[in-house]
Amino acid sequence: MVRAIVGANWGDEGKGKITDMLAEESDIIIRFQGGSNAGHTIINNYGKFALHLLPSGVFYSHTTSIIGNGVALNIPYLLKEIRELEENGVPTPKILVSDRAQIMMPYHMLLDACEEARLAGKSFGSTKSGIAPFYSDKYAKIGFQVSELFGCPSALKEKVNNVCTLKNIMLVNLYHQPALVPEEVYETLMEYKEMIAPYACDVSAYLYQARKEGKRILLEGQLGSLKDPDHGIYPMVTSSSTLAAYGAIGAGIPPYEIKNITTVVKAYSSAVGAGAFVSEIFGEEAQELRDRGGDGGEYGATTGRPRRVGWFDAVASRYGCRVQGATEAALTVLDVLGYLDEIPICVGYEFDGKVMRDFPVTSMLEYCKPVYKTLPGWKCDIRGIRNYEELPENCRNYIDEIERELEVPVTMVSNGPGRNEIIKRTPLI
Ligand code: GDP
Repeated sequence: MVRAIVGANWGDEGKGKITDMLAEESDIIIRFQGGSNAGHTIINNYGKFALHLLPSGVFYSHTTSIIGNGVALNIPYLLKEIRELEENGVPTPKILVSDRAQIMMPYHMLLDACEEARLAGKSFGSTKSGIAPFYSDKYAKIGFQVSELFGCPSALKEKVNNVCTLKNIMLVNLYHQPALVPEEVYETLMEYKEMIAPYACDVSAYLYQARKEGKRILLEGQLGSLKDPDHGIYPMVTSSSTLAAYGAIGAGIPPYEIKNITTVVKAYSSAVGAGAFVSEIFGEEAQELRDRGGDGGEYGATTGRPRRVGWFDAVASRYGCRVQGATEAALTVLDVLGYLDEIPICVGYEFDGKVMRDFPVTSMLEYCKPVYKTLPGWKCDIRGIRNYEELPENCRNYIDEIERELEVPVTMVSNGPGRNEIIKRTPLI
């Protein structure tokens, strides 16, 4: 059985925690898209970790952690993360990397940073991890697949020469950077070959066998629906699909194997980077939510950037669940809202004098105004509660209301960052 854990919002929903928790009952956990540009924060017996490239299952000795072909593979970064785990006493995890994964090159990160600098105030708010240049090259067919490192050296050298010719036009003429030297790029690839050799394999074949043996497989998504390049708030999106459907491609499994799509929904909104954010709040109200949010505040796990925050957006979250194909929802960071007398929920977007319930395209989104419904707060700390019935009535009402709005069964409620801070819930729909 394959289960996907994906985000309904802009990312940072707490997928890492849910994956880490569900990994206990799984055999294989796979990252299928994105790169080291977003982090998953996990708190467990070994300490607090911000994983960027490794799947959140690496903390269990019975699991196999896989980097699928859809991932932007930063090889030195992967080795750094593995080393950090070992240094913190985590047993050496079993890690496999798809030989069809493509390699994040240093020039991808350089091009990303140069382009952000060129755009200045009009930038996309990239993490400068090279993601957009990487995926551009993949689809322009000038990326390097892990398998190529182990193939014909002269063919690889020829490709390096060609790539350098193309890259140098941009680097030298547009960004005024030193030109890439093909011999140095080839040398870097050979270093990467040494580093990745112990992990590289045919992941799709491995998974085919694993499925035949009835292994329990988790797909771990990065970011959320609204950052998907097709269904998100283009162009303020990431460059690989964040949807569960892409798990089939980015891991190499048949789409019909993904039986369960657990979609993680945040009890309020947060986003990084630029782009329209209808239920965003500002000033002191925002700063209070930002400081109380997540675990130690809403600040990026990779960059430390303050996240933009807002109230729960039912229009965006329902759409986010729909495009994921959510079979169930996990509602996270509910504990954070315990300080509020009243909690607004954005239940509609006002556009051109009309109220919409369907999430619009980006060009309309910028003109939408939030329509709020206000629910009473519960004014207490709900951390430590393990039984659903023990949650305050107003808190349960808030969850019921969100479930009605999402039109997806809410089966789990997370009331703290720790692995065990989760409450099972019997859905009402
Ligand atoms: P991901 O990218 O979806 O995996 O999300 P992140 O891990 O970047 O962000 C979620 C943040 O919220 C992390 O700091 C988590 O430790 C924290 N977190 C997750 N679930 C909860 C929760 O239920 N309550 C609180 N207070 N924090 C949570």
